[in-house]
Amino acid sequence: MKKGRLDKEKIKKVIKGCVMFHNIINMKEFFWKNEKYVPNGKIEEINFQELIEAEARLERFAPYINKVFCETNEFNGIIESRLVNINKMKVFMESYYKESIIGDIYCKCDNELPISGSVKARGGIYEVLKYAEDLAIKDNLISSQEDYSKIDSKEFKKFYSGYNIIVASTGNLGLSIGIISSKLGFKVDVHMSHDAKAWKKELLKDLGVNVIEHEGDYSKAVELARKQADLSKDAHFIDDENSKDLFLGYGVAALRLEKQLKHNNIIIDKKHPLIVYLPCGVGGAPGGITFGLKSIFGENVHCFWVEPTHAPAMILGLMTGQHENIYVKKYGIDGKTDADGLAVGKPSGFVGKLLEKSIAGGYTLEDKELYRLLAIAYNEEHLKLEPSATASFIGPLKLGKENYIKKDVIPTHIVWATGGSMVPKDIWEEYYAKGLDLVKKDEII
Ligand SMILES: *Cc1c(COP(=O)(O)O)cnc(C)c1O
Repeated sequence: MKKGRLDKEKIKKVIKGCVMFHNIINMKEFFWKNEKYVPNGKIEEINFQELIEAEARLERFAPYINKVFCETNEFNGIIESRLVNINKMKVFMESYYKESIIGDIYCKCDNELPISGSVKARGGIYEVLKYAEDLAIKDNLISSQEDYSKIDSKEFKKFYSGYNIIVASTGNLGLSIGIISSKLGFKVDVHMSHDAKAWKKELLKDLGVNVIEHEGDYSKAVELARKQADLSKDAHFIDDENSKDLFLGYGVAALRLEKQLKHNNIIIDKKHPLIVYLPCGVGGAPGGITFGLKSIFGENVHCFWVEPTHAPAMILGLMTGQHENIYVKKYGIDGKTDADGLAVGKPSGFVGKLLEKSIAGGYTLEDKELYRLLAIAYNEEHLKLEPSATASFIGPLKLGKENYIKKDVIPTHIVWATGGSMVPKDIWEEYYAKGLDLVKKDEII
């Protein structure tokens, strides 16, 4: 063995790693900087052209969407959300949390996405539309040059009723798949984990969706849904853990965001990087968005992923390089969180491996903090969010605390609001009251 002085830096790293690991296992909040991060790295496995094609497919379907979902009329059948400046909330957070934030904060309001009120209205709906298009083209019922509004007909509904779509969900994915599939005429089975909120299940049942309720968590629901799909030959299983179509559907958001940034005269370059905070469940939504943004902005965009302290599956998978082999319960982490959209114990290996060098880092948050942010976002900006969606809002503060932003750099922060507008009024008011109480009473982080 080589003799020599102890490598202090290395020891420091190991100790820091242990502290972090200790915090995760004990379900304490922590901040993670990805040591494998290569800011200007290329993602070779998926071609950017595929994202452009996904966007074109959504444009082909726009006449149909416009016809059957009147809430999309404003954007002619394109399912899109606002990008809004939330500096009023920034000012409040700076004084409340006693930490300053460099740069403006914008919110990407996917909580307001039409049809299903969450980020799943991108990926989930996209995958069903792609499947519907593939089937119709194969049977010569439509060509890609035609006006797709003709899909809104008895003939097409009858055609699709011969096919079955199966999905497992903690709530929002089932909601978006169920709504669009039943509109098209598909037979649709939604397997819901125990985290799924009752109102989401009721809404789907009212639409004629077959809702299968499970006692177990999300990973178990996926396993059982997959089994059902394997047994049936006319079934299409929407595989949240591995689906490239879902991923691409989510990714289209990046192309749209690029236009919105231009429209707002927001310049993105080395001195003015974009920092994006994305709530993460299984990883598909933040994955697609990160892929799209990295393809467009390269080293000038940095994506941070956020998870609840009780379900840090993706961050654990990335930190350890174990990806889909991670199951949080093995570490004694219970997976229990009110952030139902993020209540995932096993991350997507497909996404983790694809993006392990493209994700800048992440952090975890306690549920208490999610409620607090929910109330603040409403008070300051009139945003109606569900707990999962608020996880991103504290990102700019976390980065400030960690001194992540270099001198002379003025970033633009985007916090991704991933869901909320479909939450029934009485339930949302309970969330808000809980958050408000915490804002007033509790001591802060
Ligand atoms: C699904 C969901 C997410 C995360 O998406 P994944 O693809 O599971 O990582 C975030 N927020 C909300 C509200 C969601 O429903």
